[in-house]
Amino acid sequence: MIPAKFDYTKPGSVDEAVRALADGGEDAKVIAGGQSLLPLLRLRLSFPDLLVDVGGLGELRGVRDEGETLWIGALTTIDEAQRDPVLAQHCGLLAQTAALIADPAVRHLGTIGGALAHADPAGDLPAVAAALDATMIARGPGGERAIGAGEFFLDYLTTALAPGEILTGIRVPKLGPGWGYRYEKFHLTAQAWAIVGVAAVARRSNGQVAEARIGLTNMGATPLRASAAEQAVAGAPADRGALRQAAERAADGTSPPSDLNARPDYRQQLARVLTGRALAHAAGV
Ligand SMILES: Cc1cc2nc3c(=O)[nH]c(=O)nc-3n(C[C@H](O)[C@H](O)[C@H](O)COP(=O)(O)OP(=O)(O)OC[C@H]3O[C@@H](n4cnc5c(N)ncnc54)[C@H](O)[C@@H]3O)c2cc1C
Repeated sequence: MIPAKFDYTKPGSVDEAVRALADGGEDAKVIAGGQSLLPLLRLRLSFPDLLVDVGGLGELRGVRDEGETLWIGALTTIDEAQRDPVLAQHCGLLAQTAALIADPAVRHLGTIGGALAHADPAGDLPAVAAALDATMIARGPGGERAIGAGEFFLDYLTTALAPGEILTGIRVPKLGPGWGYRYEKFHLTAQAWAIVGVAAVARRSNGQVAEARIGLTNMGATPLRASAAEQAVAGAPADRGALRQAAERAADGTSPPSDLNARPDYRQQLARVLTGRALAHAAGV
């Protein structure tokens, strides 16, 4: 289908983009790679009056080493994230997950910021952001603000970004010595969306898992942290039996969706199994 009519502007700076969005009011929308938005426009499920194309804003692209943290520009493509050597070294979970998203054509156009701002609960990166304890950086007419991953994803396709705000990038703490990571994605065919995904990071010390963070994909309207499993694994011996036992708590408190691919109880079982695998890999056992 052909999208409804809209105005289009391509600002030359973030400030210009923020002004254009503010001038456009609630009917203005950001477009980056267009991989999620264009299908919605074509299906007329979204019909903004104005598209603000941030795709040319080089200042929002790339990965910066800030010492304890990395800054990842919102316009960094999924393909760039997959290949970036700094990300591979300090935030391997994101690089590993990027390689599992969609196909090369989508990865070359789709951006990290677009994937997070779109907030699809079946998307892989929101759960990764949750497991990494990422902070989203937004810029709007009132200036810049930081939003923790736990507060960013509010509901299905809904984030805490206010009208007029642009996601400029995310900050993630580096995974230092002792940390391991893994994204486990269960999908029916390669390049398909996750039926369930589990993102885990774990710090191993003296034969134990000292701490772990676990993000769940497609187990609710937003990405979730598997808090009960995180608590169960903290201080547990780094062996497969103990990790599997902790992983039994991975679906506690979740209400996953039912669709043509899976019923809720099947998703909950997948979450337990994938959490066991992800933790074992992250803890190096
Ligand atoms: C065939 C196909 C398969 C896919 N498979 C997967 C998959 O397996 N796993 C997965 O996780 N994803 C998958 N995706 C989704 C893909 O990852 C996203 O479409 C893409 O990353 C979104 O980024 P974008 O730059 O194209 O965003 P756009 O489509 O441009 O925008 C998406 C939304 O985010 C908003 N937005 C974008 N950038 C910003 C910004 N900087 N600030 C504020 N708001 C912003 C837009 O207004 C819009 O609402 C798939 C997509 C396709 C088309």
